[in-house]
Amino acid sequence: MNCTNQGGRLGHRLAVSILAGSILGAISGSALAAKPVTDADIMNDAATTSDVLTYGLGTEGRRHSPLAHINADNVGDLVPAWAFSFGGEKQRGQESQPLIHDGKMFVTGSYSRLWAIDVRSGEELWQYEHRLPDGILPCCDVVNRGAALYDNLVLFGTLDAQLVALDQDTGKVVWKEKIDDFKGGYSFTSAPLIVKGLVITGVSGGEFGIVGRVEARDAKTGKVVWIRPTVEGHMGYLNGKENGITGGAPNKTWPGDLWKTGGAATWAGGTYDPDTNLIFYGTGNPAPWNAHLRPGDNLYSTSTVAINPDTGKIVWHYQFTPNDGWDYDGVNETVAFDLEQGGSTVKAAGHADRNGFFYVMNRENGKLMNAFPFVDQIDWAKGVDLKTGRPIETGMRPGNPAEATDGKKGSQVFVAPSFLGGKNWMPMAYSPDTKLFYVPANEWGMDIWNEPIAYKRGAAYLGAGFTIKPLNKDYIGVLRAYDPATGKRVWEYKNKAPLWGGVLTTSGNLVFTGTPEGYLKAFDAKTGEELWKFQTGSGVVGCPVTWDMDGEQYVAVTSGWGGAVPLWGGDVAKSVKYLNQGGSVWVFKLPGKRMAAN
Ligand code: CA
Ligand code: CA
Repeated sequence: MNCTNQGGRLGHRLAVSILAGSILGAISGSALAAKPVTDADIMNDAATTSDVLTYGLGTEGRRHSPLAHINADNVGDLVPAWAFSFGGEKQRGQESQPLIHDGKMFVTGSYSRLWAIDVRSGEELWQYEHRLPDGILPCCDVVNRGAALYDNLVLFGTLDAQLVALDQDTGKVVWKEKIDDFKGGYSFTSAPLIVKGLVITGVSGGEFGIVGRVEARDAKTGKVVWIRPTVEGHMGYLNGKENGITGGAPNKTWPGDLWKTGGAATWAGGTYDPDTNLIFYGTGNPAPWNAHLRPGDNLYSTSTVAINPDTGKIVWHYQFTPNDGWDYDGVNETVAFDLEQGGSTVKAAGHADRNGFFYVMNRENGKLMNAFPFVDQIDWAKGVDLKTGRPIETGMRPGNPAEATDGKKGSQVFVAPSFLGGKNWMPMAYSPDTKLFYVPANEWGMDIWNEPIAYKRGAAYLGAGFTIKPLNKDYIGVLRAYDPATGKRVWEYKNKAPLWGGVLTTSGNLVFTGTPEGYLKAFDAKTGEELWKFQTGSGVVGCPVTWDMDGEQYVAVTSGWGGAVPLWGGDVAKSVKYLNQGGSVWVFKLPGKRMAAN
């Protein structure tokens, strides 16, 4: 909002001040300050179509909108309403999901930047550019995945591991807190989650031997309420007091001192299910990658942990890859959904892991209900034992360098998926209409071997070498629709470059996702038929959203190629070197077609 505008509205307010107080209240409430975002607004977000208040279009992360004005019959007519350039020279991966509230879009960009944009005109209202120090240690591009809204604040995390709360109207800093020391390898890239007035965050840095944790702060002040480390042996805290050691004690599933630098980074954000009052947070690889140094399951790495937001305690956990030796980070989102089974409804959760298996869990207790592959080639395990919940390993682990003749390079294996995963951070979507999950997957493998490694603060802590390779000549990316009740693959769409963007589904029988080749695409949710595409000028690795405004439905997505693939992708990175970088947000609508009045 600029001064002229505000002055005009103030004058208007004076002119009507003789009218009833309720009218005055309505005018000053809507025109002069952002409408505060309440806990109830956040809990209702999935159902309210005129705003997008949360990462995931609802804290459950289903990425489904009940809107159907844009649908499979008319999506072919979709055209741009406006586009906004992030500008500057900082054009790197744009993995952000925009938020829409009270006439504004809030969108984050590479290098810890955030914009407020007039959502009707596409004009910038304000920009916040976080001052980053030299020596930040982001592992996988300088990305940011989005912000959170609470009260009059917009909150986001930065690459130097700070959490910033800005005034939605002015972009001014209201509070700023250090999450941890970036010199120790900590950074922050995911979107914060709001639960009952708390802002919930994790940490990035699993490749630097940090200690993963989930943390809750008072969203209005930034004051820490609880801390829950995700590596066994570390103390948790509630209101400044000790609140139990994670896992009860050290050394139950970790040898020696390795738990002290155990990784399990919580880098991809969490979801919250009000039905069970549980936060589901994924945890990354145990550190270092060389698993021979840390025999044991290494809890709670490569797991989903279910945390009670009132106590900061882990209620249940499920570990996808015990003693992970392939960097199969388990950080991917865990999405609450209702599963019909034998005439009753089970409170279930779905999770498509980097390790190539799709897991269906009972979200009340974490009990495994089903696990099925969502990629064609999985070398490290034959399947998952539904009785024990443990993988049936094939023995395809990289060898121990201590047993090598030179003591430097252990025996190499080729294994699929690659460590960039059957699916990486990019969130899937679930449609309660079709009862299908839409999973952005990749078919690739890797040569991997282990090397000796010792922990050094602020230095890469892997003890492994690798080269990622495609498995097929004509495609790597593949968007797949799965029935979680049966594990049946209903349809798939193959894409030449690896898919790296999030998915959106709507009651218009549509699925949206982006491609590194620059397209935002729409598919028929039931058949997978490609119905529409638009070239945005750079790779789409962001998360599309939709909302309605002034009687029309809109779709938005960020554009800007980048992320982990160009940096870590080996042979695959070479194959996508031609893709141009960028930085923008695009908004689409149907031309001149208003929704029916209701
Ligand atoms: Ca909403
Ligand atoms: Ca990792």
